[in-house]
Amino acid sequence: MLDELKELVCQANLELVRQGLVIYTWGNVSAIDTKRQYVVIKPSGVSYTGMSPQDMVIVNLDGEVVEGELLPSSDLPTHLELYRQCPNIHSIAHTHSRWATSWAQAARSIPALGTTHADYFYGDVPCSRALTSDEINKNYELNTGKVIAEVLHKQEDVNAVPGILVANHGPFTWGITPSEAVYHSVVLETIAEMAYHTLVLNPTAKLNQDLLDKHYHRKHGKSAYYGQK
Ligand SMILES: [Zn+2]
Repeated sequence: MLDELKELVCQANLELVRQGLVIYTWGNVSAIDTKRQYVVIKPSGVSYTGMSPQDMVIVNLDGEVVEGELLPSSDLPTHLELYRQCPNIHSIAHTHSRWATSWAQAARSIPALGTTHADYFYGDVPCSRALTSDEINKNYELNTGKVIAEVLHKQEDVNAVPGILVANHGPFTWGITPSEAVYHSVVLETIAEMAYHTLVLNPTAKLNQDLLDKHYHRKHGKSAYYGQK
């Protein structure tokens, strides 16, 4: 079942490696089917070398395996919580990519400092609060999903913020498709690196609100005009 989605999720996982965002088994991509009944996710701790669509695991929203021989990614409860709480999220990618994770470990949101950032994120890339000891010791992965959702519920439009940093951990991004979720991971990694260098060169660098508005809205929403008709 869901053969096409398994293929897309497998390809998206492999793309994280090709893009240099994941080493060893440090990342995962999942997607939810259009009826929002089943989630397809990478198996836990399996090497990317030779990974095939048949290795993907299908679970229901309670995390019960519906199809697949392997155990699902240990981050599954984080992904499921986001799908349950955020109906606008269709696919999720998680990495420990160097630059985005550096900001996450510093527990800092990434400020919007230029038009590259503004083309994709309408405002800062938010960083979640740190988990409490209780949240770490019991249902850690589920609580990771809950702290992400806490931030997202404060956003007007989750698609205007297609990714987030979890404090002391790393980035999670999303999109309409698995390839778009991965695309946003690549974009986030690039703007995380650029923001770091920008603040080293000029610690008081800022982006004009009008420039943020111009760049975000020319690519997104009803008045978008970037690209081909
Ligand atoms: Zn992680």
